Amino acid sequence: MRVPNSSSDAVATMEIARTGNYGNDMSEEKLFHECAGCGDDIYYGDEYYEIDDKIVCEDCIGEYLYDVYAPEHRKVAEYDNEY
Ligand SMILES: [Zn+2]
Repeated sequence: MRVPNSSSDAVATMEIARTGNYGNDMSEEKLFHECAGCGDDIYYGDEYYEIDDKIVCEDCIGEYLYDVYAPEHRKVAEYDNEY
């Protein structure tokens, strides 16, 4: 990310960050489920994935799929041209 040159840009950037997911108005969010991957809370209104009756949040769905369906990550040995 580019660091803003002027102070007014910096203020605007901070304002956007504050009104994001980390606002103080958490009372409107109702807990839906706990993520099977990272254990974080998933609230109503959030996007999630359901795999084998497990609820997985957007953030760790990729890693979760690798762990469940492709736990073996290996490298094929080099092909030998010499024989
Ligand atoms: Zn997660």
